[in-house]
Amino acid sequence: MSNVFYRSSKPYPVAVRGEGVYVVDREGRRYLDGSSGALVANIGHGRAEVADAMAQQARALAFVHGSQFSSDVLEEYAARLMGFLGLPEYRFWAVSGGSEANESAIKLARQYHVERGESERYKIITRVPSYHGASLGALAASGMGARRALYAPLMNEAAWPKMPKPDPQLSGEADADRLRAVLDEAGPETVAAFIAEPVVGASDAALAPGAGYHARIAEICRDAGILFVADEVMSGMGRCGAPLAVRLGGEVTPDLVVLGKGLAAGYAPLAGVAASPEVYRTVMEGSGAFKHGFTYAGHPVSVAAGLSVLDIVEREQLPQCAAQQGQRLLTGLKSLQARHPAVLEARGHGLLLGLVLGDPQTGQACAAPGLADRVAAAARSHGLLTYPGSGALDGTRGDHLLLGPPLSVSNSELGEMLDALDRALSETA
Ligand code: PMP
Repeated sequence: MSNVFYRSSKPYPVAVRGEGVYVVDREGRRYLDGSSGALVANIGHGRAEVADAMAQQARALAFVHGSQFSSDVLEEYAARLMGFLGLPEYRFWAVSGGSEANESAIKLARQYHVERGESERYKIITRVPSYHGASLGALAASGMGARRALYAPLMNEAAWPKMPKPDPQLSGEADADRLRAVLDEAGPETVAAFIAEPVVGASDAALAPGAGYHARIAEICRDAGILFVADEVMSGMGRCGAPLAVRLGGEVTPDLVVLGKGLAAGYAPLAGVAASPEVYRTVMEGSGAFKHGFTYAGHPVSVAAGLSVLDIVEREQLPQCAAQQGQRLLTGLKSLQARHPAVLEARGHGLLLGLVLGDPQTGQACAAPGLADRVAAAARSHGLLTYPGSGALDGTRGDHLLLGPPLSVSNSELGEMLDALDRALSETA
């Protein structure tokens, strides 16, 4: 028996090693990590350079109390990261995971309004479906029924008005304009912020709005005096073919950008929030401190991992690799769609791609619940790891497969992925 409290009663294989896009288990089986350990391992596994940077930092200074000290590595990283993201005037708030980062962004947005004497602005508009994290605040923000159901009632439901997901039938602008109705219904003077994933990850298989959507959202938020928060935990750091996915369609500057996963690419827990000069100034000139914090925020060893990962991302031009290899993978996925009727759609940006699976008779994405799990299990038996999910339509059921290998993936590895998927779909769908 194991003393580990696993997420489910199914025993897990024990992973022992990572090499590039591959993960090896205790039995010596090699898996091609087609979903980067859930869209995290952007630079691939087993990079000694990052391990060395972490060890060097641990020897010099492993930990400092974040509310009493900064560290050299954090100062350098914040400047380098904001430069890479094209947000040179922004301030980086470091935490350990995406859920913590979204909790931080939500509280920062609310404190921003309190400092301005607008304490009635407490609501955060979010979308359905969406996923912003597992902690209760981030989960209340999330529009993902399957993950919420057991924990109802979540915190004050009225505080999280919901907007429908992007509709590919509408122009980006018309789609974004639907935020106005949600604002009106919520009472615009009670709203603090709007938060969305620029390319939706776990809850809706790489769904992205049309061009012009984010620019219009930013405009509506500005007019309404609310903050625009981009949750780039999954889509950011080059995965979608650019440092920030929110800018794929043009220059857009959210007030807060939430980051995670690809920051330290799985080598250490690192996430954070990039805050605009206006938000930072308002909080510091108001009560003088962001009244929030976590013990391990800005942990120097995690930040050293982040800095080393950023060196690799820039040196190897991984956002460009993601754009190029993503095009190649998407073309392959579309040809799988042409051959397998249960694949209703192949979509996404860069190397954040998704297959929507369903019943070819009805064309409904939710007509064959469990299909994605079966396809993922078959793919795994052929040595390919994917990320199956549900919630394609209503956030409670439905099927999709998220695909996103490390951004350094080669052409032959993409070919291997497509072969394994082809076989898995032939056997199950
Ligand atoms: N936001 C998004 C968009 C995510 O994809 C995730 C994780 N899947 C989170 C937040 C939560 O991050 P974490 O699991 O690191 O807490």
